[in-house]
Amino acid sequence: VLVSSTMDYVFKLVIIGDSAVGKTQLLSRFSRNEFCNYGLATVGVEFQTKTILIDKKLIKAQIWDTAGQERFRSITSAYYRGALGALIVYDITKWVSFVQVPRWLEDLRMQADPSVVIMLVGNKCDLEGLRAVSVEAGREFAEREGLLFLETSALDATNVETAFQTVMERIYKVG
Ligand code: GDP
Ligand code: MG
Repeated sequence: VLVSSTMDYVFKLVIIGDSAVGKTQLLSRFSRNEFCNYGLATVGVEFQTKTILIDKKLIKAQIWDTAGQERFRSITSAYYRGALGALIVYDITKWVSFVQVPRWLEDLRMQADPSVVIMLVGNKCDLEGLRAVSVEAGREFAEREGLLFLETSALDATNVETAFQTVMERIYKVG
């Protein structure tokens, strides 16, 4: 954990999961409360930050997003290095993105610290009519693997803040 002069703590988090599941929109929603309807340019920014309060302490989340490397499964160890928390995201309307979750989990467990706090995130829960992955399937997988679990929508903001906040509170309590 880095200690900076103005912040009590800085927590590095990473977001992983298949392409197009909504990783960048989740980060945009959390860090700037924005959803970009015209697509998000990936402008070589490695991470976004957002400061939250836990236990009356200022905690800065430094949240890393991929620049599309997930398409080639070529996420480097530098991306995972020092991560205290991770969100593994799938799209509840795309079964295949859920099927890939174990591979992302394996990647993460191989490359990140064993104590990394992991949340499984089923995104796009605003698209209930197109649902292909049940809430139970997500929850069962998470329970079996000892992960936190939430369904979110970056579009209507459901559970986005809660997801990041919950991961950070867990890191704070454990670490
Ligand atoms: P990434 O490749 O995982 O970073 O995915 P993006 O954040 O670029 O999002 C991929 C597509 O899904 C874009 O067209 C987004 O507008 C859309 N999207 C992302 N999150 C949501 C969501 O919560 N609900 C809906 N309906 N669409 C979303
Ligand atoms: Mg992206």
